[in-house]
Amino acid sequence: LIGRNARDFYKEPANRHLLIEDIHYNRPIKERETVFKRSDGSEFLGLITMVPANYLGQDVILSCISDITEQRKSQQEVAKSEKMLKALMYSIPDMITVTDLDGNITFANNSAYTTIGYELDNKLISENLLSVIAAEDIERAKENMVKILTYNPGPVEYKNVMKNGTILNVEVNAMVLYDDKNNPNEIIYVSRNITERKQAEAKLKQNSEEIEKINKELLQMNDILKNKSIRDSLTNLYNHQYINELLEREISNSSVPYHNLCVLMLDIDHFKRVNDTFGHQVGDNVLVVISSLISQYARNIDMIGRYGGEEFIAVLPNIDLEAAYLIADSIRLSIQEYDFGLPNLNVTISVGLAQYESEDVKTFVNRADTLLYQAKRNGRNLEYMI
Ligand code: GH3
Ligand code: MG
Ligand code: MG
Repeated sequence: LIGRNARDFYKEPANRHLLIEDIHYNRPIKERETVFKRSDGSEFLGLITMVPANYLGQDVILSCISDITEQRKSQQEVAKSEKMLKALMYSIPDMITVTDLDGNITFANNSAYTTIGYELDNKLISENLLSVIAAEDIERAKENMVKILTYNPGPVEYKNVMKNGTILNVEVNAMVLYDDKNNPNEIIYVSRNITERKQAEAKLKQNSEEIEKINKELLQMNDILKNKSIRDSLTNLYNHQYINELLEREISNSSVPYHNLCVLMLDIDHFKRVNDTFGHQVGDNVLVVISSLISQYARNIDMIGRYGGEEFIAVLPNIDLEAAYLIADSIRLSIQEYDFGLPNLNVTISVGLAQYESEDVKTFVNRADTLLYQAKRNGRNLEYMI
C-alpha cells in the first residue's frame, strides 16, 4: 500500500477529493458511507472517518475505513422480515394482541381491533386485555395469565365482549416473550373467533339430540306395534298366532324326545250364560280377571295366550306333569274362589293338560283340547290330563 495514492482505493476517485475539501473547511467526516475498491477491482461499501493529524512533525490525514457490506445485508434482512411480520400481523384474520405482564395491551393487529368492534384509530391499545373478556371468564383468564409464565396450558376458550355488547367465542393461544435478560416481559395472544364453529356445534348437538329423540320414539312405536301384533288387545295376553309360534319355537329348540313341556288348554264354563245374564261388558271384565289370575299362578317362564273367545292356552316349559297339574289346579281354584263383586256371578273353568310327546304342535294342542272337552262332559270345573 505504501507509496500508492489513496485515490486508488475509491470507486469514484473524485469522492476523495470531496472529502479532502470537507477537511479543508473543517467539516467533520465521521462514518461517511462511501464505496471503495479493492486491488482486484471488486467494490465494497464502507464507512470512513477522517481526521487531520500530525505525524512525526508532518501534516497527515488519518483515515479509518470499515467494511459494512455484511452489516448492511443483515440490516436489510431484518428490515425485510420486519416488513413481512407487519404484513402478516395486519392481514391475518386471527386477533393478535401483545400485553405486558399485567394484561395492558401494547400491540393489537387490525383483526383484534375490528373483530372487537373498534375503529383502528381507537384506543384499544391502552386498555387491559381483561376488559374485552366476558365477566364469567375473567377469573379464569386472570389465573391463566399467571399460569402461562410457568407452563403453556394450550388453547383456551373464552367469551369476548364486543364493543357493541355482542359476545364472541374465541380460542386463545398465548406465548410468553422474554427480554434480553431472559425475564418474561410480555405475552402474545393469538385469538381465533370460533363463534360460528360453536354455533354450528351447538346446532349439530341439538340436531343429533332431536334425531336421538325421534329414534327413541320410533323404537317405542316399533315396540308398541310389535306388541299390538303379538298381543290380544283385551287381555294383553299373547294372541292365537303368536302363542302358536312360541310353542313351535319351544318344540323345535328342544332336544327330542321332549317330555318336560306341557300345555294347558283352559275354557270358561258356561260363559255364554255370563254374557246373557250380566251383559257383554261384565263378560269382558271376567275375561280380563281370568287372564290375570292365569298369569299370576303360572311361572315367569310360562307363556300364556288367549287362544279363542273364552279359551286360553298356557305353554309350560321345563316342567313335569305333576307340577303342571298343580299349576292348573291352583289356577282353577283361584278362579272358582274369585269374588267378582256381583251377586250370583260365579265363574269356573275346565282345563285339559297334555305333556309333549314327539308330535307336531297341532296334534299336541288337539290332545289338550280333547282332554278339555272330556272335563266339560264330566261336569266342568275340572282338569283332565294325560
Ligand atoms: P262351555 O262351558 O261349554 O264352554 O260353554 P260356553 O258358554 O262357555 O261356550 P260357548 O262356546 O257356547 O260360548 C262361548 C261364549 O263366549 C260365546 C261368546 O259370546 C262368548 N265370547 C267369546 N268371546 C268373547 C268376548 O270377547 N267377550 C265376551 N263378553 N264374550 C265373548
Ligand atoms: Mg266355554
Ligand atoms: Mg269355548
